[in-house]
Amino acid sequence: MRKKLLAGNWKMNLAWNEAMTLFANIVSESKPYLDKVDIAVFPPSIYQRQCFEFAKQNKSAVIVGAQDCSAQNGGAFTGEVSAQMLRSIGVSHCLVGHSERREYHHEGSRMLSEKVERLLEVGLIPVFCCGESLQDRDNDNQTFVIDNQLDGRIFELNAELFSKVVIAYEPVWAIGTGRTATAEQAQDMHEFIRGLVQSKYGAEIAQNLRILYGGSMNESNAAELLNQPDVDGGLIGGASLKLDAFISIIKAAAL
Ligand code: PEP
Repeated sequence: MRKKLLAGNWKMNLAWNEAMTLFANIVSESKPYLDKVDIAVFPPSIYQRQCFEFAKQNKSAVIVGAQDCSAQNGGAFTGEVSAQMLRSIGVSHCLVGHSERREYHHEGSRMLSEKVERLLEVGLIPVFCCGESLQDRDNDNQTFVIDNQLDGRIFELNAELFSKVVIAYEPVWAIGTGRTATAEQAQDMHEFIRGLVQSKYGAEIAQNLRILYGGSMNESNAAELLNQPDVDGGLIGGASLKLDAFISIIKAAAL
């Protein structure tokens, strides 16, 4: 039985005091649910260390993740943060291939594969994001696009390494738009992804793989989405910035 993972992606939001207040509240209000679900917060990089220390001091299992890492190991790469550095401050998960990074930072498949490799080399868990555009969905090309985003990228990994990865299905047309995939659309795609994984890596790895849904998940639609058999949690942007909404989503997953 897969434990659900609820991951809040704060993106480039919140001043330091707001971020620490929200994180402290998440730590305290998530306590009753942490045995049933995993909870992760992906704050902006400069807050990660303090969030990790706060969780540790409060003996909380809330995970601290990073929104990005470098494809390089280290050296003369101004402004970059390596997977090794993330690990050294307690970060355990890292998003790779979020559609905003693919679009605004022109991150292509080769770079994404390198980031996944850097993370796995130091024992961090990549949360690999994939998702089709509205045009692809309207042309009924979504499965082709997702197959393409996975095949020859993370599907290059051997079975042992792949078994550490989390996949997040995030239809681009649903991110930050208020337009959510229906529970049926999410389930269909998650089932399709699990099927691809099964044909590549076998049933056991496919059954253990966590596939998160992301795209305008909120307190009103979370229960239905999270109730689908192949939806193993959520990657939540906007609603993770609001304490009540995020905790309601966690509650829905813990039921
Ligand atoms: C995201 O950025 O990964 C995301 C799903 O955002 P939102 O929940 O705001 O659509």
